[in-house]
Order: sequence, then structure tokens, then C-alpha cells
Amino acid sequence: MTDKMTHMERGLAALSGEAVDRLTVYPIACGVCRKLLPGDVTYQQWVSDPKLFGQAFVAGQKRFGFDFAIGLMDLSVMAGDLGAHVRMDEENTPFVDEHIVKDVEDYEKIEAPDIRKGRSNVLIEGTRYFAKELAGQVVTAGFLEGPLLALSQSAGAERLFMDIFSSPSAVHKALEVTSAYDTEMIKAFGTTGINGLCWDYLWANYSCLGDSEYKEFERDYADKLNDIVRREGMAVCIHNCADLPHLDTQILHYKPAIYSMAYYPLIPGSPTAAEVIEKGYADHCLVAGQIDPQVFIRGSAETVTKVTKDLCQEVKTSLCKRGLKSQYCIASGCEVPPDRRTKMENIEAMVDATKAYGVF
Ligand SMILES: [Zn+2]
Repeated sequence: MTDKMTHMERGLAALSGEAVDRLTVYPIACGVCRKLLPGDVTYQQWVSDPKLFGQAFVAGQKRFGFDFAIGLMDLSVMAGDLGAHVRMDEENTPFVDEHIVKDVEDYEKIEAPDIRKGRSNVLIEGTRYFAKELAGQVVTAGFLEGPLLALSQSAGAERLFMDIFSSPSAVHKALEVTSAYDTEMIKAFGTTGINGLCWDYLWANYSCLGDSEYKEFERDYADKLNDIVRREGMAVCIHNCADLPHLDTQILHYKPAIYSMAYYPLIPGSPTAAEVIEKGYADHCLVAGQIDPQVFIRGSAETVTKVTKDLCQEVKTSLCKRGLKSQYCIASGCEVPPDRRTKMENIEAMVDATKAYGVF
């Protein structure tokens, strides 16, 4: 099937709820695209060099023809720059292996880092690189960890979720700092030329926090940060791969342009694409999801084609019932693993299957 619209035309039409030739497609293939660069670039090299970081997105766009480009690095960028130790195996997603909060008093010692240094700088400058290279071809967005996520990565989630009950004021002091850090990052992203800024507001998850805790420990901060994103000329986008996401808060209240989500078939209540659309969440927002990222490592190209075909069918049926034309993007529920074993042909299979089965 040949596309009748450009990536830019389709992306913009889907964002405004207008008719499209086919569903938009975006496997969240970020770190894995370093494999397309010459010279066996390791994960560590990729996250240390803004040019390599940006080039991977340009190479991914050229090879696969996505409908969006979203510059995710990983979820330990802020924690690392706040002083936590990040373990970075060459071919895998890095993770924090030593937290900075060992005592409740440590929350008050957290200080925002200089964003012109460390991986914060690589993220900003690398985003600037691909925003410029891909300008006009595809809708671009930067990627930033929300204030509560940055803190949970720095303090350890288990400890943080006990401390929000036992020592809420200490946690709030630390959240003021991660919010100030986010504010500096937003302003820097605002100079890069990207069209949107995608938040990871992961803790809006009923498995972890109820509405009132989420409001107190993130929503009140996020409201201010989302306003700053818009003021700096970018669209607010959200990624949340929680099993039980707070959809009312994150879609109806935050009003993002794009909402990227996952689906967990084994968790009762985890919302399917059809449910999300039919309950009206796609009425004012482009919802993206929900292919299991593990299929890109473990599955075959045939499996990916089948899963994508089924999702296209489910989505088109639900959009039609709801009287919508385009407001769902065929995407992975979370990042395609940046692992060396991830099969690039599976990413291609997902894009090709959307071109074949996502046609209206
Ligand atoms: Zn995710």
C-alpha cells in the first residue's frame, strides 16, 4: 500500500482529529536505532555524545519512516545528574544501582544540577541535533522525566512511597528541587526547535497511588510544569506505561496532544485500546499504544505483523463507533528494548503492517 500523505501531513492531521490515509505509526524505537549508525556504537557512547544521540533518531527515521520522532534517552538521566550512581552495561537500559537518599534528611540535601553538564546536556543538545535535521519531515518531541519519577529514581521507589506517608514535608522539599530542575530543562528544550515535549509521568498508576496522593505528589507540580511547556512554545505530550493509569487526570485534566500508554493483559482493569477510545479519551487527544515491547526481542516478524494487524483492526472499529477519524497512533506500549538482540526487522514489520492494515 502506498502512502498518500507525508509523515508531517499525517501526524498533524491525527493530532487535530482530521482524516488520514492510514493510522499513524510509532514504535518507540530510540536507543536501539544506534545500531543503524556506523561503527558499532555502544549504549554508553550513544548517551555520552549529543551528535551520536541525535544521529540515531535521524537514521531511524530514514530507515523506517515513522510518523513521529520522540527523543527518549532513558529514565536515569536526571537521577544520574542529581548524583545517583547509574550502572550502564554497554548493551542494555541503564539503571540506578545506588540511590542518594539514605535517610529522611537527605531529601533536603538534594540540589538541582547544572544542566549544561552531564547527560542532561547530551539530551538537550542531541535533541537540538535531530530537531534540526528532521524539521519539516516529521513531528518531533523531546522527552523528560517528571518530578516524581526523577525523585523515585534518585531515592528508590520503595523508600519514597513509604516516606510520602511518614515524612511528606521532606518529600515536598525534594520535589520542589526536581521541579526546578525540570523547569530549567523545559526552557532549554524550548530553544531546540522541537514541536512537543513528552513527559514520563509514570506514577499516575492506581497500583501505586490513589487520586489524592497523586494530586499532592505530582499533579500539583505537573500543572505548573505543563503550563511552562506550553508557554515555551511546545505541545504537552505524555508517556505513561503504568498498568492502571490515571486516565482522567492525565488525559482529561492535563489535556496532552499525545498520550502514549501500555496494556497489560494479565492485570485486571488494565485498559485496552478499544476501551480507551470507546470511553472517549481519544476524543480530544491522540492516544498511542499498546504493543508489548518484548515482542521486538522475542517475537518473529510474522508475530509482529499479526499483533499490529489485530491492533489496527481493533482501533479502526472503535474509532468508527465513536465517530473519530484518526486519533490513535499504532505504537509500542513502552520503549522498544535498546538491547543488542532486538530485531530491527520487527520494527520494520510493525511499520509495514500499519501501512497495510491501518488504511482507512
Ligand atoms: Zn514506558
